[in-house]
Amino acid sequence: MTRHPDTPADTDTTAGRPAAPALPVRTVEVSAVRRISPRMVRVTLGGPALADFSYDAPDQQVKLYFPRPGQTVPRLPEPGADGDVMRWYGAFQAIPEDERPWTRSYTIRSHDPARGTVDVDFVLHDGSADEAGDGAGSGEGPATRWARSAGPGDVLGMFGPSAYFAEPVPLGTADWMLLAGDESALPAIGTIIEALPEGARAVAYVEVWDAAEEQRFESAGEVTVHWLHRAATTDGSPLVEAVRAAEFPAGSVFAWLGGEASAVRALRRHLVGGRGLDKRSVHFTGYWRRSLTQDDAPTEADLAEARERLADRS
Ligand SMILES: Cc1cc2nc3c(=O)[nH]c(=O)nc-3n(C[C@H](O)[C@H](O)[C@H](O)COP(=O)(O)OP(=O)(O)OC[C@H]3O[C@@H](n4cnc5c(N)ncnc54)[C@H](O)[C@@H]3O)c2cc1C
Repeated sequence: MTRHPDTPADTDTTAGRPAAPALPVRTVEVSAVRRISPRMVRVTLGGPALADFSYDAPDQQVKLYFPRPGQTVPRLPEPGADGDVMRWYGAFQAIPEDERPWTRSYTIRSHDPARGTVDVDFVLHDGSADEAGDGAGSGEGPATRWARSAGPGDVLGMFGPSAYFAEPVPLGTADWMLLAGDESALPAIGTIIEALPEGARAVAYVEVWDAAEEQRFESAGEVTVHWLHRAATTDGSPLVEAVRAAEFPAGSVFAWLGGEASAVRALRRHLVGGRGLDKRSVHFTGYWRRSLTQDDAPTEADLAEARERLADRS
């Protein structure tokens, strides 16, 4: 998982790690855009800055920087010669707010070393009001707006991925792996499934809008995917309900959870409190928060989650 200093969970988790390498900040250019399902767009990013890109593990996360209105290229500070991430971040924060790029987290869906490109899959959501039906959301965010109209030649900033900030997903170490998330976690789940070694077992629960959003994955492992359709539910989280009701295979399990933050928290509580999983066997990340943007301040629940994450690691 990327540990970038602009989220509360990311502030001090790098203590004790090796010295940081050169700052992984790049400017990238869209080379292709493809609608892979009604609510998901695949954007291929390329450019000279990706020539030395290395991709050696699944679930690689980046921060993308989106230009403000009136800009064609997001305004980013130069990475300093000393590679000091905090200095760079200080310079980023010093950019006047109306010129400072919007920052959102995304997953590298795939890397094509021959072409020097990476794919990023964007969920085209309308803000949580649309799907919760309660009128409470703040509408489509800047990342989704950008992705909806992205075209070749458009430019973004990218921070990461970086092994220094990453939390590797253990593959094939437990008897089986539980993967659970919504469509925003589908890119990460896809990379994990595709990276499973031969003989590794995984059971995935993925909540999407409807059958048109389902995807197919290649894997050397033995994988079962349960697709859960939000369109068919009136309330609650079909993802949480399905995992709660699931009969788990026997043996040790490593769980990977990603998606809407309260659903992820409920799943983690269920796995640790209800099923007795060791906390260190549950990797969890709230990907988005209902009715809140990624710019909004952390809630008490977010801060509690960040503290727990740190405690789990120590
Ligand atoms: C480590 C990490 C990896 C991620 N990888 C991906 C990825 O590969 N692909 C991807 O699509 N997303 C991914 N996400 C989630 C993505 O960062 C968020 O959905 C982000 O909020 C989208 O930004 P935005 O500008 O569209 O919306 P924001 O401005 O952040 O939010 C605007 C409104 O939209 C709502 N909203 C935000 N996201 C969603 C959603 N997914 N569904 C419904 N409503 C939503 C908010 O509640 C808010 O009301 C990842 C998140 C993390 C933390």
